[in-house]
Amino acid sequence: MFSPPNVVRSALLTLRNVSGRGHVLSAAAASRSQHSGQSAPSNRPETSSAKTLMDIGTRRILNEDHDLFRQNVRRFFQEEVVPYHSEWEKAGQVSREVWEKAGEQGLLGIMVPEKHGGIGGDLFSAAVVWEEQMYCNCSGPGFALHSDIILPYIVNYGTKEQTERFIPNIAAGKSILAIAMTEPGAGSDLQGVKTYAKKDGSDWILNGNKVFISNGWMSDVVVVVAVTNREAKTAAHGISLFLVEDGMKGFHKGRKLDKIGLKAQDTAELFFEDVRLPADAILGEVNKGFYYLMNELPQERLVIADMAIASCEFMFEETRNYVTQRKAFGKTVAHLQTVQHKLAELKTEICVGRAFLDNCLQLHSQKCLDASTASMAKYWATDLQNKVATQCLQLHGGWGYMWEYPIARAFVDSRIQPIYGGTNEIMKELIARSIVRQT
Ligand SMILES: Cc1cc2nc3c(=O)[nH]c(=O)nc-3n(C[C@H](O)[C@H](O)[C@H](O)COP(=O)(O)OP(=O)(O)OC[C@H]3O[C@@H](n4cnc5c(N)ncnc54)[C@H](O)[C@@H]3O)c2cc1C
Repeated sequence: MFSPPNVVRSALLTLRNVSGRGHVLSAAAASRSQHSGQSAPSNRPETSSAKTLMDIGTRRILNEDHDLFRQNVRRFFQEEVVPYHSEWEKAGQVSREVWEKAGEQGLLGIMVPEKHGGIGGDLFSAAVVWEEQMYCNCSGPGFALHSDIILPYIVNYGTKEQTERFIPNIAAGKSILAIAMTEPGAGSDLQGVKTYAKKDGSDWILNGNKVFISNGWMSDVVVVVAVTNREAKTAAHGISLFLVEDGMKGFHKGRKLDKIGLKAQDTAELFFEDVRLPADAILGEVNKGFYYLMNELPQERLVIADMAIASCEFMFEETRNYVTQRKAFGKTVAHLQTVQHKLAELKTEICVGRAFLDNCLQLHSQKCLDASTASMAKYWATDLQNKVATQCLQLHGGWGYMWEYPIARAFVDSRIQPIYGGTNEIMKELIARSIVRQT
């Protein structure tokens, strides 16, 4: 057991100071209250009854610890992310400093258990971080991917040596994670991957290439999906996961890809040419990689879905502000009944989405979220996000098409959501399978 990462501990102290109340504003505290079975106060309004959809102090699944934590996270994004985002969009990547600042503030790897030196925070605290990132409309930092989508592979399947070696730097934001599944010829059909790791004594020799890898350009450690048994009875039985580190001989990063949205996200191609990997680079057991992916994908889909609803909440409030100020025909646009009805429809759908997502978050916090329900959340919430983006941009008129208006960025960033993490067509396949199986 390594000593607890000081950075996370000091982050709690920092939060304690920042709160100015001598109150430890920690995810761990939130976790404790949840696990003690203490129910959230019943007087918390749901978002439908709150003044705005981004109000702090709402939602029955959260409590006062989460609210205090949210205030600090909101301040972090406003101070450390918003002012730099346009610069990062031009650079096609965020700064190393923002990762380390997030690490110092304890915003990375919140759910890492105490036995691995983490703070053992709950899912809701992690959700506060990714929701606040959507509320500030800054898609650059790939924090949720790093902390809540990739890190669980190391936490759940890593050896003692791997967890001790990698987790402290990951939680500190000094080591950035990426996951490389997709290849030029294999996206939805993950069993079609060609990247191959061949055994050589106790080592492995890795060859292949990956595409569309988020955090790819800045990555320090990549979880790479590779075939390890070409003769397996099905492709799924011959896939393994490897931890590949930046700087290993034969590991090259291609260009940062030029995307229509997520402009500050360093999505990249990765190439592996005879990369020699030691035996301890394998994550979990040989040929169990596909099984691990299936286990972890529901959480990935839940994260994407909740980010989608948070983005809807942001876009709605941005649009409400706009139409209550913009004048047409001598009155504000918000005076027009058609606009009011559109806002009523949008708010209703977003609140319905929030209720479902909060239910999914609650289920997942109790380890009861099944894969099919996670797929429903991902498909429905990301489709809603795109509908809301289109309609909110429309309510901005021509100004909504201008990059200087936040709704423009939210609109282009929305478009990827039904595609990655498994396309929404694949989500429907998964949902349908569980329906037919039951008949
Ligand atoms: C910005 C961005 C970031 C990404 N980040 C990552 C990352 O970090 N790591 C990673 O590994 N990958 C990442 N991806 C890849 C992403 O997950 C894939 O693009 C996605 O899974 C779809 O695969 P594909 O692009 O090969 O499309 P295809 O699989 O070729 O699909 C093309 C179309 O056919 C449909 N289709 C395919 N199969 C079926 C089916 N059985 N039934 C019905 N319809 C079907 C799809 O829904 C889609 O509409 C990222 C992609 C982008 C664009």
